Amino acid sequence: MSFGLAPVTASFLTDADFRSILYIISFGLFIYGLSGLTGPKTAVRGNRIAAVGMAIAIVATLLVPDVNNIVLIILGVAIGTAVGVPAARRVKMTQMPQMVALFNGVGGGAVALIAWVEFRDSDGFADRPTYVAIFSVFAAIVGSVSFWGSNIAFGKLQELIDGGSKVIGSAQIQTLINVALGAIAVACGTAIVAGSHSEILMIGVLVSAGLLGIFLVLPIGGADMPVVISLLNAFTGLSAAATGVALNNTALIVAGMIVGASGTLLTQQMAIAMNRSITSVIAGGFGGTIEAAAGATSASGGTVRSTSAADVAIQMAYARLVVVVPGYGMAVSQAQHAVREMAKLLEAKGVEVKYAIHPVAGRMPGHMNVLLAEADVPYEQLREMDDINGEFGRTDVALVIGANDVTNPDARNKPDSPIYGMPILNVDESASVIVLKRSMSSGYAGIDNPLFVNPKTSMLFGDAKGSVADITEELKAL
Ligand code: NDP
Repeated sequence: MSFGLAPVTASFLTDADFRSILYIISFGLFIYGLSGLTGPKTAVRGNRIAAVGMAIAIVATLLVPDVNNIVLIILGVAIGTAVGVPAARRVKMTQMPQMVALFNGVGGGAVALIAWVEFRDSDGFADRPTYVAIFSVFAAIVGSVSFWGSNIAFGKLQELIDGGSKVIGSAQIQTLINVALGAIAVACGTAIVAGSHSEILMIGVLVSAGLLGIFLVLPIGGADMPVVISLLNAFTGLSAAATGVALNNTALIVAGMIVGASGTLLTQQMAIAMNRSITSVIAGGFGGTIEAAAGATSASGGTVRSTSAADVAIQMAYARLVVVVPGYGMAVSQAQHAVREMAKLLEAKGVEVKYAIHPVAGRMPGHMNVLLAEADVPYEQLREMDDINGEFGRTDVALVIGANDVTNPDARNKPDSPIYGMPILNVDESASVIVLKRSMSSGYAGIDNPLFVNPKTSMLFGDAKGSVADITEELKAL
């Protein structure tokens, strides 16, 4: 006997107000979780809180009364989990940007496919209000650009395709092609919104926007890549929000707008950190220089002074202030724990140790903060670029560990340098600079660094982790 309980429970669970309450809880958790991401100590918890929010939003969506293909949904979730979880566990910190590009692309692709499915389900939006057609077409265009653009970004960062600038003909011809593709996508979309039900038009939208995504990212290379990934991330957020409007799903609107807004702000901040305007990033050009200079060794023509771990240890042991400048090479060699151990020994000898964090050091925003936090480096010792730059003048030793572009004085002094204008860490203002790297090879931007031939600079060649361990051993012996 049911006493009518089951129907009451079912109607309560499928009630729109109940779903709205679940959505509001999940938005609260998204925002609370995001606020945790502002510091390394709270970041992991913040991520988990946001994940709980997402789980609640998914459950709420599954409670929508007309969700009927539950088996397919469960299958999709199972496949996604089986692929996503091991990939996220295995990915190295240095490969995180390509991972972000891939996940972001999948989001954009899903949005574009939803728009297509909606088009088919409704016979070309025949029985839908005009605004649904407008938002769906927008989602199809932006989602498709984001999917294909992100895949190219992934391929470049993973070195599956050449990371340099690629254009058809010249930059001008490429721009014309891009404008034409954009115009085709908008024209097909406009015809759909105006009432045409032809599926060829929807395919035209998806294909031309997809090609546009590919051609927009192919010319971009080198140091502009993080800005591009962040921009595509913002695109995916906006397209998801548009899908939310079309499907009347509040969760998608809010989550999409959060991604769109944060992606836009991050893009802007990164562009400022690299002194690149967003339009100049999209116009490309940086990558061409990288291609020309790729693999260059020191052509600066100065004298390179190499040093030993013993000399470095003595120099630092008698310093008052040592500033550690971590870069991509520290991440590759996983030297952060060794660096922390070395710093502890220096501190025990009365040396003040600080860490200078450049906003784009490494291969993703916040890369260095995450690695150093993992090694329990006290957060108070981490200094952002603007704070530490004033202190290099009173620094005895700047210890550059696997960093290159972010210390390159050409960005300050050489107007024809491709990185001219990018704010850098002014390590050359220190009394002495020690650079730990394996060779005289260039960094990500593929250009020479005159810092390495500065008379104040000594190079300690070798893998960063090994070099730091050697210095630590020498410090113990002092
Ligand atoms: P760079 O890429 O300029 O230089 C890293 C240096 O590390 C190389 O010169 C390399 O020299 C050295 N290195 C590599 N492996 C090791 C190792 N095992 N041991 C010791 N040294 C090693 O790094 P930076 O951090 O200075 O600059 C980051 C660059 O990446 C910038 O151009 C930035 O724009 C770009 N970028 C940043 C992203 C971000 O969001 N942070 C994302 C994508 C790109 P050698 O081979 O001689 O050892």
